[in-house]
Amino acid sequence: MEIEFHGVRGSIPIPAENFLEYGGNTTCIEISSKDFQLIIDAGSGFKNVRIREGRPTFLIFSHFHHDHLQGLPFNEALFSTKHQIHVGSGLVGKEGLKEALSTAFTPPLFPLDLIGGNFAFNIMNFETFQAAAIDFFSIATFPLSHPGGAAGYKIAVGNRSVVCGLDHEYGLDKELDAHFHGASDNSDLVIWDGMFTNSELKNKQGWGHSTIEQAIAFSSTCNPNLLFITHHSPQRKDQELNQLTQDLLPGRVKFAKENKKFEIS
Ligand SMILES: [Zn+2]
Ligand SMILES: [Zn+2]
Repeated sequence: MEIEFHGVRGSIPIPAENFLEYGGNTTCIEISSKDFQLIIDAGSGFKNVRIREGRPTFLIFSHFHHDHLQGLPFNEALFSTKHQIHVGSGLVGKEGLKEALSTAFTPPLFPLDLIGGNFAFNIMNFETFQAAAIDFFSIATFPLSHPGGAAGYKIAVGNRSVVCGLDHEYGLDKELDAHFHGASDNSDLVIWDGMFTNSELKNKQGWGHSTIEQAIAFSSTCNPNLLFITHHSPQRKDQELNQLTQDLLPGRVKFAKENKKFEIS
């Protein structure tokens, strides 16, 4: 499996000096092999995903906050391809998914009717999505602690697995944390919502995000080979991320960077 972060920011894109090393686009993660392409969330980074016509494309949503959705109409391939993109979510069924996307991408909030129009989306229930994917990868979902809910995912190809926990407030609901732990134990890679530091979290409890320090503790409990912290605060400059790497992060915990590919094999 190859992993590439196309967007690593939470909340809003930040295309500015001092943010270019880690990247300014909002959440979008691509997991692919020679057989398939799976995209998790369509924040502004979705614009830069190359839709690969020679293999099936799957798009899964964790939830529908703007920073996980706003890039959906801006990938130019959508306007030229006949290649169907299978779209699902562990958070809602087919009708809920259609409604969420239609609400965001019809007038007056958006100039075109992206979902009802003649575009390449094949929107489905999560169970149908799982069945469509099964020849390429397995995907399971678990609930996360986030205002309005969010769906975490465990994706596996053979005995290799990636766990994505966006967006999640660790430490607020023990039962939901236990699902995340269960999915992550001894996985190859965990993708973690590290929007805040512990000191920033004091005034932001209930906002639905975890901390960088919690990621470090989680990685020693669950023992994944690698943990990538993403959903960086739009205030967090490159220099601060580099300093935090030096001061805090053990070798197997890293801050995700945009457009950096790595292989799990
Ligand atoms: Zn978010
Ligand atoms: Zn969110």
